[in-house]
Amino acid sequence: VLGGPKAVPDGMIIPWPPVEDIDRQYVLAALESEIHRTGPNCQAFEQEFAVWNGNQYAIMTNSGTAALHMAVAACGCGAGDHVLVPAYSWSSSVTCVLHHNSLPVFVDIDFDRINIDEEKIEAAITPRTKAIIAVHLNGLAVNMEKVCAVAKKHNLKVIEDSCQAHGARFQGKKVGLWGDVATFSLNQNKCLTAGEGGVLTTDDEDIYRNARMLWSFGETRTPSEDRDYHAYALGWMYRANELTGALARAQLTRLDEYLAIQEANAAVLLRGLEGVTGLIPPVVPEGCTPNWYNVQIHIDSEALGRDDDPSRLRYAMIK
Ligand SMILES: *Cc1c(COP(=O)(O)O)cnc(C)c1O
Repeated sequence: VLGGPKAVPDGMIIPWPPVEDIDRQYVLAALESEIHRTGPNCQAFEQEFAVWNGNQYAIMTNSGTAALHMAVAACGCGAGDHVLVPAYSWSSSVTCVLHHNSLPVFVDIDFDRINIDEEKIEAAITPRTKAIIAVHLNGLAVNMEKVCAVAKKHNLKVIEDSCQAHGARFQGKKVGLWGDVATFSLNQNKCLTAGEGGVLTTDDEDIYRNARMLWSFGETRTPSEDRDYHAYALGWMYRANELTGALARAQLTRLDEYLAIQEANAAVLLRGLEGVTGLIPPVVPEGCTPNWYNVQIHIDSEALGRDDDPSRLRYAMIK
């Protein structure tokens, strides 16, 4: 900002994800094999990710957005059904509902966490409501006890958009273990990445079977099984490929390590920002263990004695 040498010199920020020998081994082995479509690496990744998260089933997809669309459909949402979504999230948390001709109904967020305000969910429920999408934005878990209690009372499905929240916990239990179905992203910007990709996890056999069918052209047999090439539903092509599956597997072996580094880095950042006038540090409610995917900070313009346009102030502060 003031000229002079860069405070963060070129090369100091290491590219994400780190690429090591294990990545080269897995990806090259996949390249040298004869299978490049979805295959044994993708299948192994599904099992390994399910074990890592503690879920019964996992399906690897070609994006987190695809996994979300599959989740909405697999929960039985249909044309005109209402699906509750937070008023602030990544676009996919809402477009996945529209992609299935269902209607997103916005529930406001609370100021401190910018996550869905659990207290406002019940008022948004209508006779047409089928599901709630709880987004663990910035890797900070929604209060899943409250969400699941409202859902149970009104017989609604709960979809956890965990695309930013790998390893985040609520009351010690990982996200993706609370609702009926959950989705994770493997995009390069996320905590676990294979370049692009996604995962759907569930413990519900019906949701799993339904999602698996929609994942591959509406067929009931997977490409790894003996296919009969009959489509039984309006399906899509949301499968991942072997190179991506191989990279995802190699990266997953270090996910716990990555998350520990992320937590340590966040602690340094939060200590450094402590007491800085005009910054409101992230609020972590009791019971939440964030994965610190993003460290979300509010700007207190009043404390800075400013009454100009807050968005201009925000951009100036970032700069
Ligand atoms: C990244 C993200 C998605 C979509 O994942 P893609 O893999 O990019 O399709 C969905 N929801 C949230 C909250 C995300 O951050």
